[in-house]
Amino acid sequence: MDSEQLRENAHKMVDFIADYYKNIETFPVLSQVEPGYLEKLLPDSAPNHPESLQNVLDDVQTKILPGVTHWQSPDYYAYFPSNSSTAGFLGEMLSAGLNIVGFSWVTSPAATELEVIVLDWLAKMLKLPEHLLSSGQGGGVIQGTASEAILVALLAARDKVLRKVGKNSLPKLVAYASDQAHASMLKACQIAGIHPENIRLVTTDSSTNYALSPDVLGEAISKDIAAGLIPFFLSSTVGTTSSTAVDPLYALAKIAKGNEMWFHIDAAYAGSACICPEYRHYFDGVEEADSFNMNAHKWFLTNFDCSPLWVKDRSALIQSLSTKPEYLRNKASEANMVVDFKDWQIPLGRRFRSLKLWMVLRLYGLENLQCYIRNHIKLARHFEELVASDSRFEIVVPCKFSLVCFRLLPAHNDQDCGNKLNQDLLDAVNSTGKIYISHTVLSGKYILRLVVGAPLTEERHINAAWKVFQDEATVLLGGV
Ligand code: PLP
Repeated sequence: MDSEQLRENAHKMVDFIADYYKNIETFPVLSQVEPGYLEKLLPDSAPNHPESLQNVLDDVQTKILPGVTHWQSPDYYAYFPSNSSTAGFLGEMLSAGLNIVGFSWVTSPAATELEVIVLDWLAKMLKLPEHLLSSGQGGGVIQGTASEAILVALLAARDKVLRKVGKNSLPKLVAYASDQAHASMLKACQIAGIHPENIRLVTTDSSTNYALSPDVLGEAISKDIAAGLIPFFLSSTVGTTSSTAVDPLYALAKIAKGNEMWFHIDAAYAGSACICPEYRHYFDGVEEADSFNMNAHKWFLTNFDCSPLWVKDRSALIQSLSTKPEYLRNKASEANMVVDFKDWQIPLGRRFRSLKLWMVLRLYGLENLQCYIRNHIKLARHFEELVASDSRFEIVVPCKFSLVCFRLLPAHNDQDCGNKLNQDLLDAVNSTGKIYISHTVLSGKYILRLVVGAPLTEERHINAAWKVFQDEATVLLGGV
């Protein structure tokens, strides 16, 4: 790496990216290209000789950006957000610049120690219980994604129970979550070797706004115990993916503890909201958690990827994931004086992710972060009111955080007709390129999901988005 060449080219790249953000509203939010478009535009082998950065940037502008869906656009409302910010970007830049691989403390002490400190800071902001902090038996670790966080928690729980009941009991282990839990829970069970028939995705319905019912869960557990099975893991969610349902943590924790199960909380999206005192009550019961994850890369201004996980008993994780090959031995690790995060995760190598979270916390501060979350929730409520004011639409579940679940009502009360109508509406609004939303299905109904969470979204964008829905609905309903 030639430092002067880096300086010159990195300045050009920063200019390019700054211009991208300046013009971001001019792009169709959802990429409008057809599959295979890029193969037609690029040569079929790499160049023999170096090209100029300008040539590459020209290609990015003309060939790559048309195939980009603009997650940072203020008109992006799909799935859940994946925030970028100046602080998060600078942290990523610094991490790329240093480019260390901090698997053991010795490979870059600052990487491990900053991660421990920053996750303690964040745990305090979320008012997580003391036992999840590094001062006790627990602590935090940054995983790449919530899927990895859930998997490692499940592996620790599995091995903990198997140490007690014997390895041969693996086919008897049962894991529980609601049918609204993210698919990563199912994937984690598949990877962990949980028998497919022993994965209970407990049915939810509109009577609990799609939250997991402790009674229904209790019945399922009792039935399994009576059948000689071993309940070992309960994953609850604060802010489910489809509709941001919040599982009743206290009651669920009580059941989990009563049955000696590992109690996990997945707050991938909604965790960020709990830095605001008025939303913290959704976390009541977290005191009982064995593990807890949230995604700072979703709604917390930290560029992808950054998925903090806290555990109550770090030794459970380490017993499942630790390896000690000769070529990684070093004095600090041998003396048990340090944290080696390689033993808290699946891969060996790990990025210096705490830098960007540290930048976000320091350059914005708690009060600004709270305002950021509150503003999105206010904008979502504003959108919800707009939808509620038009009798052609209905709100399907009340908005808790910044997701609005709604649908266009069909002329006749026919579910298939309603589903087709809303699929058509989704396709119509997304193909305008003006906004991008996604969908879900709840109780057999196809539902539109609009999540406010892109850092650049303002009230004018929400009003413009609503106009797109109104106009397209008018066309679909035959008004034009
Ligand atoms: N859990 C919940 C509640 C989610 O909404 C998501 C993704 O949206 C995930 C887990 C998976 O997140 P990741 O992409 O970080 O694995």
